[in-house]
Amino acid sequence: MLASGIANNKDSNWRFIVEWSSKGLGILHEVKRVIFSGHTKYQDVDLVETPTYGICLFLDGKLQTSSADEWMYHEALVHPIMLTHPNPRRVMIIGGGEGITLREVLKHNTVESVEMVDIDEEIIELCKQYLKALHRGSFDDPRVKLVIEDGRKYLSAKHNDYDVIIVDATDPLKGSPSVPLYTKEFYEIVFDALRDEGLMVTQATSTFYTIKTFTTICNTLKAVFPIVRPYQVWVPGFNSLWGFVIGSKRYDPVALSEEEVRERLHNRGVKDKLRLYHPGLHKALFALPLFLEERINSEKDIATDDKPVYVD
Ligand code: SAM
Repeated sequence: MLASGIANNKDSNWRFIVEWSSKGLGILHEVKRVIFSGHTKYQDVDLVETPTYGICLFLDGKLQTSSADEWMYHEALVHPIMLTHPNPRRVMIIGGGEGITLREVLKHNTVESVEMVDIDEEIIELCKQYLKALHRGSFDDPRVKLVIEDGRKYLSAKHNDYDVIIVDATDPLKGSPSVPLYTKEFYEIVFDALRDEGLMVTQATSTFYTIKTFTTICNTLKAVFPIVRPYQVWVPGFNSLWGFVIGSKRYDPVALSEEEVRERLHNRGVKDKLRLYHPGLHKALFALPLFLEERINSEKDIATDDKPVYVD
Protein backbone atom coordinates (compact mmCIF):
# COMPACT_ATOMS: atom_id res chain seq x y z
CA MET A 1 0.00 0.00 0.00
CA LEU A 2 1.51 3.35 -1.00
CA ALA A 3 1.00 6.36 1.19
CA SER A 4 -2.57 6.58 2.49
CA GLY A 5 -5.07 4.97 0.18
CA ILE A 6 -3.22 4.09 -3.03
CA ALA A 7 -2.70 0.38 -3.64
CA ASN A 8 -1.03 -1.27 -6.58
CA ASN A 9 -1.71 -4.56 -8.22
CA LYS A 10 1.21 -6.85 -7.33
CA ASP A 11 1.61 -8.17 -10.89
CA SER A 12 1.67 -4.83 -12.63
CA ASN A 13 2.06 -1.18 -11.82
CA TRP A 14 -1.70 -0.73 -12.13
CA ARG A 15 -2.66 1.53 -9.22
CA PHE A 16 -6.00 2.19 -7.63
CA ILE A 17 -7.78 3.60 -4.61
CA VAL A 18 -10.68 1.76 -3.03
CA GLU A 19 -13.17 4.14 -1.49
CA TRP A 20 -15.61 2.50 0.94
CA SER A 21 -19.18 3.85 0.45
CA SER A 22 -20.30 1.74 3.37
CA LYS A 23 -19.28 -1.51 5.05
CA GLY A 24 -18.73 -4.08 2.31
CA LEU A 25 -19.23 -1.70 -0.62
CA GLY A 26 -16.13 -0.20 -2.17
CA ILE A 27 -15.65 1.84 -5.32
CA LEU A 28 -12.38 1.16 -7.08
CA HIS A 29 -10.86 4.27 -8.65
CA GLU A 30 -8.06 3.54 -11.09
CA VAL A 31 -5.14 5.95 -10.52
CA LYS A 32 -3.59 7.22 -13.75
CA ARG A 33 -1.31 9.77 -12.09
CA VAL A 34 -0.39 10.54 -8.50
CA ILE A 35 -0.12 14.32 -7.97
CA PHE A 36 0.38 14.11 -4.23
CA SER A 37 0.03 11.34 -1.69
CA GLY A 38 0.87 11.72 1.98
CA HIS A 39 -0.26 12.82 5.40
CA THR A 40 -0.94 16.21 6.93
CA LYS A 41 -1.14 16.92 10.64
CA TYR A 42 -4.81 15.96 10.50
CA GLN A 43 -5.56 13.77 7.46
CA ASP A 44 -4.30 11.30 4.88
CA VAL A 45 -4.27 12.96 1.47
CA ASP A 46 -4.35 11.51 -2.04
CA LEU A 47 -4.53 13.95 -4.94
CA VAL A 48 -4.71 11.82 -8.07
CA GLU A 49 -5.89 11.77 -11.67
CA THR A 50 -8.45 9.07 -12.56
CA PRO A 51 -9.88 8.11 -15.98
CA THR A 52 -13.52 8.70 -15.01
CA TYR A 53 -13.55 11.59 -12.57
CA GLY A 54 -10.44 13.52 -13.57
CA ILE A 55 -8.51 15.20 -10.76
CA CYS A 56 -9.69 13.80 -7.41
CA LEU A 57 -8.96 14.81 -3.84
CA PHE A 58 -9.27 12.00 -1.29
CA LEU A 59 -9.01 12.69 2.45
CA ASP A 60 -8.73 9.70 4.76
CA GLY A 61 -9.70 7.55 1.79
CA LYS A 62 -12.98 9.45 1.13
CA LEU A 63 -13.47 11.28 -2.17
CA GLN A 64 -13.95 14.99 -1.42
CA THR A 65 -14.14 16.45 -4.87
CA SER A 66 -13.47 15.55 -8.50
CA SER A 67 -12.98 17.85 -11.47
CA ALA A 68 -15.60 15.92 -13.48
CA ASP A 69 -18.58 16.66 -11.26
CA GLU A 70 -17.58 19.05 -8.45
CA TRP A 71 -20.07 21.66 -9.69
CA MET A 72 -23.00 19.38 -8.86
CA TYR A 73 -22.12 19.19 -5.17
CA HIS A 74 -20.91 22.78 -4.76
CA GLU A 75 -23.80 24.49 -6.57
CA ALA A 76 -26.28 22.38 -4.57
CA LEU A 77 -24.47 23.25 -1.32
CA VAL A 78 -24.21 27.01 -1.89
CA HIS A 79 -26.99 28.48 -4.01
CA PRO A 80 -30.19 27.27 -2.29
CA ILE A 81 -29.12 28.90 0.98
CA MET A 82 -27.59 32.02 -0.60
CA LEU A 83 -30.75 32.68 -2.59
CA THR A 84 -33.04 32.00 0.36
CA HIS A 85 -31.42 34.92 2.20
CA PRO A 86 -32.66 38.18 0.59
CA ASN A 87 -29.32 39.98 0.93
CA PRO A 88 -26.41 37.80 2.11
CA ARG A 89 -23.48 40.12 2.77
CA ARG A 90 -21.37 38.39 5.44
CA VAL A 91 -20.69 34.69 4.83
CA MET A 92 -18.71 32.09 6.79
CA ILE A 93 -17.42 28.85 5.29
CA ILE A 94 -16.17 26.12 7.61
CA GLY A 95 -13.98 23.60 5.79
CA GLY A 96 -14.22 23.80 2.00
CA GLY A 97 -10.47 23.36 1.67
CA GLU A 98 -10.49 23.17 -2.13
CA GLY A 99 -11.73 26.79 -2.40
CA ILE A 100 -14.65 25.71 -4.61
CA THR A 101 -17.43 26.51 -2.11
CA LEU A 102 -15.68 29.88 -1.85
CA ARG A 103 -15.81 30.22 -5.64
CA GLU A 104 -19.56 29.68 -5.67
CA VAL A 105 -20.26 32.08 -2.77
CA LEU A 106 -18.25 34.86 -4.45
CA LYS A 107 -20.53 34.68 -7.51
CA HIS A 108 -23.19 36.59 -5.51
CA ASN A 109 -22.63 40.35 -5.85
CA THR A 110 -24.36 40.94 -2.50
CA VAL A 111 -21.37 39.36 -0.72
CA GLU A 112 -19.15 41.89 1.04
CA SER A 113 -17.03 39.46 3.05
CA VAL A 114 -16.38 35.72 3.22
CA GLU A 115 -14.43 34.17 6.09
CA MET A 116 -13.21 30.68 5.28
CA VAL A 117 -11.99 28.65 8.26
CA ASP A 118 -10.20 25.37 7.61
CA ILE A 119 -8.23 23.41 10.17
CA ASP A 120 -5.64 22.04 7.75
CA GLU A 121 -3.18 24.55 6.26
CA GLU A 122 -1.39 21.84 4.28
CA ILE A 123 -4.64 20.92 2.49
CA ILE A 124 -5.25 24.57 1.65
CA GLU A 125 -1.73 24.95 0.21
CA LEU A 126 -2.08 21.72 -1.81
CA CYS A 127 -5.44 22.85 -3.21
CA LYS A 128 -4.15 26.35 -3.96
CA GLN A 129 -1.29 24.83 -5.90
CA TYR A 130 -2.89 21.87 -7.69
CA LEU A 131 -6.60 22.77 -8.00
CA LYS A 132 -6.30 26.17 -9.70
CA ALA A 133 -8.67 25.03 -12.46
CA LEU A 134 -11.31 24.40 -9.78
CA HIS A 135 -10.93 27.24 -7.28
CA ARG A 136 -10.09 29.68 -10.12
CA GLY A 137 -8.27 32.06 -7.80
CA SER A 138 -11.12 32.39 -5.29
CA PHE A 139 -8.62 32.53 -2.43
CA ASP A 140 -7.25 35.81 -3.85
CA ASP A 141 -10.58 37.66 -3.98
CA PRO A 142 -10.27 40.84 -1.83
CA ARG A 143 -13.49 39.95 0.01
CA VAL A 144 -11.94 36.73 1.37
CA LYS A 145 -10.39 36.24 4.81
CA LEU A 146 -8.77 32.79 5.07
CA VAL A 147 -8.28 31.49 8.62
CA ILE A 148 -6.42 28.32 9.58
CA GLU A 149 -8.23 27.17 12.70
CA ASP A 150 -10.71 24.66 14.03
CA GLY A 151 -14.04 25.93 12.73
CA ARG A 152 -15.88 25.34 15.97
CA LYS A 153 -13.25 27.13 18.07
CA TYR A 154 -13.26 30.11 15.70
CA LEU A 155 -17.03 30.36 15.52
CA SER A 156 -17.51 30.09 19.29
CA ALA A 157 -15.91 33.54 19.61
CA LYS A 158 -18.46 35.09 17.21
CA HIS A 159 -21.91 36.48 17.99
CA ASN A 160 -24.63 37.78 15.68
CA ASP A 161 -22.09 38.16 12.91
CA TYR A 162 -23.04 36.27 9.74
CA ASP A 163 -25.96 36.13 7.31
CA VAL A 164 -25.00 32.67 6.01
CA ILE A 165 -22.80 29.91 7.44
CA ILE A 166 -21.82 27.00 5.21
CA VAL A 167 -20.33 23.87 6.79
CA ASP A 168 -18.44 22.04 4.07
CA ALA A 169 -16.46 19.68 6.30
CA THR A 170 -15.34 16.11 5.81
CA ASP A 171 -17.72 13.32 6.77
CA PRO A 172 -17.72 12.57 10.52
CA LEU A 173 -15.43 9.56 10.33
CA LYS A 174 -14.29 8.28 13.75
CA GLY A 175 -11.14 10.22 14.63
CA SER A 176 -11.79 12.98 12.08
CA PRO A 177 -11.46 16.60 13.28
CA SER A 178 -14.89 17.20 11.70
CA VAL A 179 -16.85 15.06 14.19
CA PRO A 180 -17.51 18.02 16.57
CA LEU A 181 -19.04 19.92 13.64
CA TYR A 182 -22.11 17.66 13.60
CA THR A 183 -23.44 18.07 17.16
CA LYS A 184 -26.20 20.01 18.94
CA GLU A 185 -23.62 22.02 20.85
CA PHE A 186 -21.97 23.09 17.59
CA TYR A 187 -25.25 24.04 15.97
CA GLU A 188 -26.01 26.20 19.02
CA ILE A 189 -22.68 27.97 18.43
CA VAL A 190 -23.68 28.46 14.77
CA PHE A 191 -27.12 29.77 15.81
CA ASP A 192 -25.48 32.36 18.05
CA ALA A 193 -22.94 33.41 15.41
CA LEU A 194 -25.73 34.03 12.89
CA ARG A 195 -27.56 37.36 12.63
CA ASP A 196 -31.30 37.42 13.44
CA GLU A 197 -32.32 36.41 9.90
CA GLY A 198 -29.37 34.09 9.30
CA LEU A 199 -29.27 30.59 7.90
CA MET A 200 -26.79 27.71 7.87
CA VAL A 201 -26.31 24.67 5.67
CA THR A 202 -24.21 21.57 6.23
CA GLN A 203 -23.23 18.74 3.95
CA ALA A 204 -24.86 15.75 5.62
CA THR A 205 -23.40 12.62 3.89
CA SER A 206 -25.13 10.08 1.64
CA THR A 207 -28.92 9.83 1.95
CA PHE A 208 -28.65 6.13 1.16
CA TYR A 209 -25.40 4.53 2.32
CA THR A 210 -25.24 6.57 5.54
CA ILE A 211 -28.93 7.40 5.90
CA LYS A 212 -28.80 7.10 9.70
CA THR A 213 -26.06 9.74 9.81
CA PHE A 214 -28.14 11.98 7.54
CA THR A 215 -31.37 11.67 9.54
CA THR A 216 -29.51 12.19 12.83
CA ILE A 217 -27.90 15.40 11.53
CA CYS A 218 -31.34 16.51 10.39
CA ASN A 219 -32.93 15.75 13.78
CA THR A 220 -30.08 17.45 15.61
CA LEU A 221 -30.61 20.67 13.63
CA LYS A 222 -34.33 20.49 14.49
CA ALA A 223 -33.33 20.75 18.15
CA VAL A 224 -31.72 24.14 17.46
CA PHE A 225 -33.36 25.87 14.46
CA PRO A 226 -37.03 26.75 13.97
CA ILE A 227 -36.92 25.94 10.26
CA VAL A 228 -35.01 22.83 9.04
CA ARG A 229 -35.04 21.76 5.41
CA PRO A 230 -33.19 18.64 4.18
CA TYR A 231 -32.49 18.17 0.50
CA GLN A 232 -30.36 16.04 -1.83
CA VAL A 233 -28.63 15.97 -5.19
CA TRP A 234 -27.04 13.20 -7.23
CA VAL A 235 -23.23 13.30 -7.13
CA PRO A 236 -21.71 10.71 -9.51
CA GLY A 237 -18.30 10.70 -7.82
CA PHE A 238 -19.95 9.91 -4.48
CA ASN A 239 -21.93 7.13 -6.17
CA SER A 240 -24.95 8.40 -4.29
CA LEU A 241 -27.62 11.01 -3.75
CA TRP A 242 -25.90 13.42 -1.38
CA GLY A 243 -27.65 15.05 1.55
CA PHE A 244 -27.61 18.62 2.78
CA VAL A 245 -29.59 20.24 5.59
CA ILE A 246 -30.47 23.93 5.98
CA GLY A 247 -31.21 25.38 9.43
CA SER A 248 -32.87 28.80 9.33
CA LYS A 249 -33.87 31.43 11.88
CA ARG A 250 -36.49 33.07 9.67
CA TYR A 251 -36.50 32.36 5.91
CA ASP A 252 -37.88 29.03 4.63
CA PRO A 253 -36.04 27.80 1.50
CA VAL A 254 -39.12 26.03 0.17
CA ALA A 255 -41.18 29.21 0.48
CA LEU A 256 -39.06 30.86 -2.22
CA SER A 257 -40.97 30.97 -5.52
CA GLU A 258 -39.38 30.05 -8.84
CA GLU A 259 -39.87 33.70 -9.90
CA GLU A 260 -38.06 35.01 -6.81
CA VAL A 261 -35.17 32.60 -7.47
CA ARG A 262 -35.00 33.77 -11.10
CA GLU A 263 -35.03 37.43 -10.05
CA ARG A 264 -32.39 37.00 -7.35
CA LEU A 265 -30.11 35.02 -9.67
CA HIS A 266 -30.42 37.78 -12.24
CA ASN A 267 -30.00 40.70 -9.83
CA ARG A 268 -26.95 39.15 -8.21
CA GLY A 269 -25.16 38.43 -11.47
CA VAL A 270 -25.15 34.66 -10.86
CA LYS A 271 -27.56 33.64 -13.63
CA ASP A 272 -25.09 32.72 -16.37
CA LYS A 273 -22.47 31.15 -14.14
CA LEU A 274 -24.19 27.88 -13.23
CA ARG A 275 -24.36 24.32 -14.62
CA LEU A 276 -26.72 22.57 -12.22
CA TYR A 277 -28.84 24.99 -10.23
CA HIS A 278 -31.68 26.95 -11.85
CA PRO A 279 -35.03 28.46 -10.75
CA GLY A 280 -37.06 25.32 -11.54
CA LEU A 281 -34.63 23.10 -9.65
CA HIS A 282 -34.62 25.04 -6.37
CA LYS A 283 -37.86 23.65 -4.94
CA ALA A 284 -37.34 20.23 -6.58
CA LEU A 285 -34.16 19.68 -4.55
CA PHE A 286 -36.28 19.63 -1.39
CA ALA A 287 -38.80 17.09 -2.73
CA LEU A 288 -37.65 13.90 -1.01
CA PRO A 289 -38.85 10.34 -1.65
CA LEU A 290 -41.38 8.91 0.80
CA PHE A 291 -38.99 6.41 2.44
CA LEU A 292 -36.55 9.23 3.20
CA GLU A 293 -39.26 11.55 4.56
CA GLU A 294 -40.45 8.72 6.80
CA ARG A 295 -36.92 7.99 8.04
CA ILE A 296 -36.35 11.69 8.76
CA ASN A 297 -39.66 12.07 10.60
CA SER A 298 -39.13 8.95 12.68
CA GLU A 299 -35.53 9.79 13.68
CA LYS A 300 -35.24 10.24 17.44
CA ASP A 301 -31.46 10.46 17.94
CA ILE A 302 -29.70 13.78 18.45
CA ALA A 303 -25.93 14.05 18.04
CA THR A 304 -24.15 15.60 21.03
CA ASP A 305 -20.55 16.01 22.10
CA ASP A 306 -21.04 13.06 24.44
CA LYS A 307 -22.81 10.98 21.78
CA PRO A 308 -21.63 12.22 18.36
CA VAL A 309 -22.81 10.94 15.00
CA TYR A 310 -20.37 9.10 12.74
CA VAL A 311 -20.36 7.64 9.27
CA ASP A 312 -19.80 3.92 9.50
N1 SAM B 1 -16.87 18.43 -0.26
C1 SAM B 1 -16.34 17.57 0.77
C2 SAM B 1 -17.42 16.64 1.24
O1 SAM B 1 -18.41 16.50 0.55
O2 SAM B 1 -17.24 16.00 2.26
C3 SAM B 1 -15.70 18.39 1.86
C4 SAM B 1 -14.75 19.42 1.29
S1 SAM B 1 -13.35 19.91 2.12
C5 SAM B 1 -12.08 18.95 1.46
C6 SAM B 1 -13.49 19.34 3.78
C7 SAM B 1 -12.61 20.21 4.63
O3 SAM B 1 -13.04 20.17 6.00
C8 SAM B 1 -11.14 19.79 4.65
O4 SAM B 1 -10.37 20.78 4.00
C9 SAM B 1 -10.79 19.68 6.13
O5 SAM B 1 -9.49 20.16 6.44
C10 SAM B 1 -11.89 20.53 6.76
N2 SAM B 1 -12.16 20.28 8.19
C11 SAM B 1 -12.35 19.10 8.80
N3 SAM B 1 -12.57 19.30 10.13
C12 SAM B 1 -12.53 20.65 10.34
C13 SAM B 1 -12.68 21.49 11.48
N4 SAM B 1 -12.92 20.97 12.71
N5 SAM B 1 -12.58 22.83 11.32
C14 SAM B 1 -12.32 23.36 10.09
N6 SAM B 1 -12.15 22.63 8.96
C15 SAM B 1 -12.26 21.28 9.10
